[in-house]
Amino acid sequence: MHLAPAALDTLAGCRLFAGVPAGVLRNIAAGALGRDVASGAQLITPGEPQLALYIVMRGELGVYADESARLPLLKIGPGDCAGEQTIFQQRPATSLVAATEPTLLLGLSSDRVWDAMHRAPVIALNMLGLLSERMREEDPALGGGFNAHSAFDGAARTDQLTGLGNRRWMEDAFERELLRCERAGTPAALLMIDIDRFKDVNNTVGRRVGDAVLARLAELLRRALRPRDLCARFGGEKFCVLLPELGARKALQTAERLRARIDAQPAQINRDVLVSYSVSIGVAEWRPGQRLDEMVRSAGEALGAAKLAGRNCVQLAGG
Ligand code: GH3
Ligand code: MG
Repeated sequence: MHLAPAALDTLAGCRLFAGVPAGVLRNIAAGALGRDVASGAQLITPGEPQLALYIVMRGELGVYADESARLPLLKIGPGDCAGEQTIFQQRPATSLVAATEPTLLLGLSSDRVWDAMHRAPVIALNMLGLLSERMREEDPALGGGFNAHSAFDGAARTDQLTGLGNRRWMEDAFERELLRCERAGTPAALLMIDIDRFKDVNNTVGRRVGDAVLARLAELLRRALRPRDLCARFGGEKFCVLLPELGARKALQTAERLRARIDAQPAQINRDVLVSYSVSIGVAEWRPGQRLDEMVRSAGEALGAAKLAGRNCVQLAGG
């Protein structure tokens, strides 16, 4: 089955292909095969060579430790991919990947992936981000990032409810990234995201469901952002995102895209419970030399302005 032209948009939204020029994307799409798989269909088998990268266009894949495992170690949703580890290592697969529901995949041969990476090296950077994220997901001891020295340290820097870095992690990781931007002479921006009237959400659906809403929001953010973006739970129902390489205009676009997606996509808590909610977002553009705490303060002020403007909206600091 060949890919419909509309699927190019989906491809452009994939984290692996963030920032890839349209010409290269078209070339990738031309060489890719769409594949519909039934729920339960096994795509990757431990011990067998893996010759393709699968990108989930619709549906979901689960990664399982082995055939006897009933619960997936990891779920792979739209925009994410499977098979990248084996393509990189050029070794047989170590875990089993199967569809958890009817799923539409895009298959790319490993030759095509390597070829695309030569044409657009940003794919390699994105891949690196995805791989390190997957390592963190598979090994919670790495939850604090590569600088976590021990499982204890990792746990101390990870928010248990959402699996994101906590404020302590954020202060280190964001500051380090700003130093990198300073050296590279590239821009950066910070988003402060806060759930609107979360007290009312808790009062209506209960605090435990409220907790699950926070976890779903974290998952949505992780999936919607580029691999190189950093996301942390700042505290309570507030999250901070650092967007390296983005100036104010693009950061505002990203914030607006997140806000709209959250507004349109209620949190699915379980089969019967859906919770609609919205967020307000404050955006601060980084000025070279500016410290993280100043940037956080600006984003917080912009967030306050967004709340005053009626909530469910985005405001730029000083804008
Ligand atoms: P606003 O639109 O102005 O942000 O209103 P709000 O109700 O979201 O803000 P407020 O600061 O008044 O209340 C925040 C609420 O978030 C109250 C607190 O109980 C809830 N909250 C904070 N952390 C958690 C958590 O970990 N789990 C749950 N379920 N609720 C939390
Ligand atoms: Mg709030």
